[in-house]
Order: sequence, then structure tokens, then C-alpha cells
Amino acid sequence: MKELAQYKDYKRIAVMGGSFNPIHNGHLVAAEVVRQEFGIERVIFIPTGNASHKKSDPMYNEHRYLMTVLATAANPNFEVSRMEIDRAGKSYTIDTIGELRKQCDDDCEIYFITGADAIDEILTWKDPEKLLSMCRFVAVTRPGYDKTRLKATIDTINTKYKGNVEFLEIPALSISSTDVRNRVAVGKTIKYIVPEPVESYILKFGLYGGRPSALKTDDINKKLLAVLTPKRFKHTRGVAQEAVRLAKRYGADTEKAYIAGLLHDCAKCYTDKEKIALCEKYNVPLDDILFKQPDLVHSFLGAALAKAEYGIEDEDIINAIAYHTTGRKDMSLLEKIIYIADYIEPNREAFDGLEEIRKLAYEDIDKAVEFSLENTIGYNVNKKRIIHPLSMEALEYYREGNNEKQ
Ligand code: NAP
Repeated sequence: MKELAQYKDYKRIAVMGGSFNPIHNGHLVAAEVVRQEFGIERVIFIPTGNASHKKSDPMYNEHRYLMTVLATAANPNFEVSRMEIDRAGKSYTIDTIGELRKQCDDDCEIYFITGADAIDEILTWKDPEKLLSMCRFVAVTRPGYDKTRLKATIDTINTKYKGNVEFLEIPALSISSTDVRNRVAVGKTIKYIVPEPVESYILKFGLYGGRPSALKTDDINKKLLAVLTPKRFKHTRGVAQEAVRLAKRYGADTEKAYIAGLLHDCAKCYTDKEKIALCEKYNVPLDDILFKQPDLVHSFLGAALAKAEYGIEDEDIINAIAYHTTGRKDMSLLEKIIYIADYIEPNREAFDGLEEIRKLAYEDIDKAVEFSLENTIGYNVNKKRIIHPLSMEALEYYREGNNEKQ
């Protein structure tokens, strides 16, 4: 049996270098297209290890490696090397190419395929001139990449440093690992973006904040579609996505933010009669104000439904749903995020003050809460509606800057 990573018989081999965090279909298409275009016989995927230019987490190194193995297993022209993952100390491309060189014949050409960003910076790598003399480089670009600048850099490298660098645009690279991670974090599907075994692996190990919401989200959406109007469903998704953006801005849990956003209006579209029946069923107390203002009921009922019908146990999520309409004093970060996300999500029709709250939301969430409470209370007073005491207490609390005193 031919030993893996021995390239004596080959005339052209390529290294596919990158973090692969995680590997996606764009990488696979790029490697396959370059392989065919340049007549390469073997593509060796080499996930970065302790890369010289960034910090790496050993646990994630292993995950990145295993996902790359899963993604490439079925292609007889692809293989994966642990060379960089296992290298002690900082890892440099020149050492990788040097090691491979020892394993192939003198007339074997070695290609290095990677993203154009990396190639753009190649002159800052270790021993760039020597490296450029040891292998040929293919910079793969995604649609929209500034090719004029890249061409100029490549021309300089090729003339001044006698390099052999070229580039190839790969439309499938409109997929990016960052996008995959972001999608997983908010429970969006990554089906057909990454190979199926990679998708299962990510969910199994809860990578990129993907567990358990990624598994739950489909069920939640299915139920919501049955009980919400299409317009409310669209708003709900807008709130969930806005909540994730705010969670990222303020360092809150994006998974909880997404779930709370999705469920905040889960009781909204029932009729008043149905809401009252459900309140009785789930022991949601109805005071005088709630009777006179049935619209407020949906928040407290929504919290009870989230627990009983959607299996949510997290108290912070439950509270964020319960207080998303009235607000209350001393809200948790998640409660504030949902309160504000509901106010500013992109599908909201324009109203006085909306743009100011959108801006404040990302500058100072407490100020945004104070401003929103003032706005809502003012609006409801004009409409001669009773104001819930929780909202009045909240306004006083945030006006006095109590949050800042903590
Ligand atoms: P990275 O952080 O994973 O990626 C940077 C950008 O390039 C991202 O947009 C990424 O898209 C894309 N990309 C990376 N690898 C790709 C590939 N093989 N095919 C298509 N797109 C790819 O990678 P990096 O840290 O820049 O490193 C890339 C390679 O250059 C690695 O092999 C690394 O070891 C080498 N490098 C060496 C040195 C040195 O020797 N001193 C210094 C820097 C980099 P995705 O996020 O979608 O993958």
C-alpha cells in the first residue's frame, strides 16, 4: 500500500492552505477547479496550526482538521495533512513547503493555493523570496474582490521577486467561513453551504454557538408559521436577527438573543378570547390593566407559552419575552436587547424617533431603552391609553441613570 504523504510519483502537487474554520463547499470547488486547470495530480489540504500570524485554540485545531478530513474523504485526488496542526512552535509556509519538497522528486512542481487576502500579504511572510522560488502560488478570489490591486501586487511579486503567482476567480467562493460561523450562531441553515458530514459535525459538537438553537430553530419556526400572520412572522425574524446584532455588540449570548427574538411575539396573533383562555390554562395572572389593554397580555402569555409549548427553560429568555412590551426597571442585558430589537428591527414602519433609537441602540443601550420608554409612554398617553406601572417604574429607573450606579 502506498504510504500517505509520499509524493515520489507525482509531477504536480498542490497545497491548499487555510484555517478552514470551517471548511465549506467554496473551498472544495476552488481546490477542484485549480486542480483541473493546472493539471495537478494531488491536492493536500493543510489546515493552519499554530499560525505565525494568529492565535489558535488547540481544541479548534482538532475540529478544523477533522472537518477537513470529513469534507475531502470521498475525493480520491484530495488528502489532508496534519503537518501544520502538529508542528511545535510557530508554523510557517516555508517549512511546510520544505517538508513536502523532501517527499517528492526534484522535477515535481509544488503549487500553493490559498485566498487572495493571504497572497496579498505574502511579502510579509517568513523568507518570502526563498518561498517564492520553491513553489507556484494560485490566489483564489471571491466575486467582488479588488482584482486591480491584486494584479498590481502579483505583477510586483512576479517581476521584482521572480515569483510565480497567478489568480483565479472562483464564483463558488462567495461562501465564506465567517458567513458559515455567523449563520450557525443564529441558527440559520448551512445545508448545501458545507458538506453534509461537516454540518452534522458542527451541530454535534456545538461549534460556533450552534447548539442547541440550530436544532431547535426549525421546530420553533414551524410552530410560529402556524400561529402568526405572515407579516408578524417577518417581524419576528427581523427581531431575532436584530437581537443577534445587538448581542454581538454588547457581548451577550447570541443564541439566547435569537431564540428570545423569535419567540417574543409567539402569543400575539391569538384572538382576545383565545388569549384569555390560554392565560387561564397556563395560570398567567390577568390584572385590571391587562384586561383593559389586551395587547399587553401577549408578552406575559408569550413567556408562559415559550415555557410550556416551545420547551424554553432559560429564565432570562422567558423574562425577555415577558417584559418586551412594558419593559421594567433593572432589566437584564438580554431583556434590553429584545426590548430594543423589537423597536428597531429593519421591517418596522417609520415612526417619530425611530432613527434616533436605531443609532442610540448601538451606542448606549440604556439610553436607547430610556428614549424608547419615553417615546412609547408619550404615544400611549396621546392615545389616552392606561400606562402600565412597570413602564412608568422603568422610565424613572433609566432616567435616574440607576443602571450606571451599579
Ligand atoms: P484565513 O484566515 O483562513 O483566510 C483569510 C482569507 O482567505 C479568508 O477570506 C478566507 O476565506 C480565504 N482563504 C483562506 N484559505 C483559503 C483557501 N485555501 N481557499 C480559498 N479561500 C481561502 O487564512 P490565512 O490565515 O490568511 O492563511 C492562508 C494560508 O496562508 C495558510 O496556509 C497560512 O499558513 C498561510 N500564511 C502563511 C504565513 C507565513 O508563512 N508567515 C503568513 C500568513 C498566512 P474563508 O474564511 O472562507 O476560508
